[in-house]
Amino acid sequence: MYEPEKPTVSPKESATLAYKIGRSLYLNITNRCSNTCIFCPKFNQYKLYGHDLLLAAEPSFEEVMAAFAVMEPTGIDEIVFCGFGESLIRLELVVRIARELKRLYRYPVRINTDGQANLVHGRNILPDLACLVDTISVSMNASDAETYMQLCDTPFGDDGFCGVCDFIRLAKQQIPNVIASVVDYPGVDLDACRALALSLGVSFRIR
Ligand code: SF4
Repeated sequence: MYEPEKPTVSPKESATLAYKIGRSLYLNITNRCSNTCIFCPKFNQYKLYGHDLLLAAEPSFEEVMAAFAVMEPTGIDEIVFCGFGESLIRLELVVRIARELKRLYRYPVRINTDGQANLVHGRNILPDLACLVDTISVSMNASDAETYMQLCDTPFGDDGFCGVCDFIRLAKQQIPNVIASVVDYPGVDLDACRALALSLGVSFRIR
């Protein structure tokens, strides 16, 4: 169990940084996103299954670990980097937390991501996650660049969708379990998305 020298988060802050849904414990480390998805609930309110995920400020390593410890992480099946923001924007923090969690707890670690981290950082960041992340779920969201742009308003233009597909391909080389996911939203061709995911050699999930 991680024991910070002194409490670094209030109960309210702690509940925003670490929250449970079912048997998964989620870490919410940023509200920043590289996309502006049309279907994202956060543009109405930062609430998910009753959890308030609006951060007062971006947390430090110590604050996230303290919040994790407050949750008394027993009876969970996995730890997931996922909140109302794109965790891999804070790549160094993700790596540091994942390394510490693996050392202390050995729970499987999953990252839910928009798949644009290589574009954001200007390099292939997936080797940084090798041996630290067990599953990566990538929001593919469309089967073509035009639909992706309409749904996700990526700042990278046509490169955004290509970047997601490349990210999925490269993830397979470093992460044991890779999932391409889509939202069942009007205009999304689910069959074409499934076919694309399978052609990329990864699992497919409708969320
Ligand atoms: S990447 Fe996720 S959190 Fe960010 S806008 Fe899209 S759905 Fe919302």
